[in-house]
Amino acid sequence: MPKLTFLGTSGSVLTKERMCAGILFDDKLLDVGFGVLANLIRSGKKLDSISDLYISHTHSDHIGDFTGLVWAMAMKGRTKPLRVVSSSSAGAALERILDLQSTPYAWVKFEITFVRPEDVGVKSVTTVHDPENLAYRFQTDRGDLVYIGDTAKSEKISEFAKGCDLLIHDSTYLDGQESLAALTQHSTARDAANTAKLAKSRRLVLTHFSPGNGVAERRYLAQASAAFDGRIVAAKDHQILTV
Ligand SMILES: [Zn+2]
Repeated sequence: MPKLTFLGTSGSVLTKERMCAGILFDDKLLDVGFGVLANLIRSGKKLDSISDLYISHTHSDHIGDFTGLVWAMAMKGRTKPLRVVSSSSAGAALERILDLQSTPYAWVKFEITFVRPEDVGVKSVTTVHDPENLAYRFQTDRGDLVYIGDTAKSEKISEFAKGCDLLIHDSTYLDGQESLAALTQHSTARDAANTAKLAKSRRLVLTHFSPGNGVAERRYLAQASAAFDGRIVAAKDHQILTV
């Protein structure tokens, strides 16, 4: 059964309870924001079993631990290649970041390949966010998983997510924070729920919560439930879900 482990569910900055964006999906890691490496190691997952890293975009709350992950893999003596899937601009930025952070390549005994989602047969779409953010759609034999990354509310996303089993959606803000959401190109819980409703998704996972909203899980859930009838989860760090 395809398994998801949430390694970070905070937006922008980490908190005591929540690291920045990161989800383990079988042998794939989806984003690697600040603190995700620590939670990945705590999860007991062997770093060597991770084959692919999918990056939504280059905001540091989604890539902050990238170099740390590569170094941790090198320290474990990794030899198998690591495939990094992203937009071409994000791939180029990540390569540059490894250089800028003075990665000692002689010590990295594995190849890091930077590819586009179309190279590996995974569907993607650009969301409403700057820098360019790719949402990904993964097929499993139990239904499709859609990971949005960051986005302002957008009907295009519901088309992309049509009929998926599990929609993991940016849910940074609450009702009353719509102007903030528009300014920062993020979604409210209600936006996420409207997208799930239009997409006829079976389940919705809310994540990327604004630290400024403190512990407001019940409010996020209540506002999303007003717009979407399916099952809704407000993700917590270390939470496990199956597809
Ligand atoms: Zn972002």
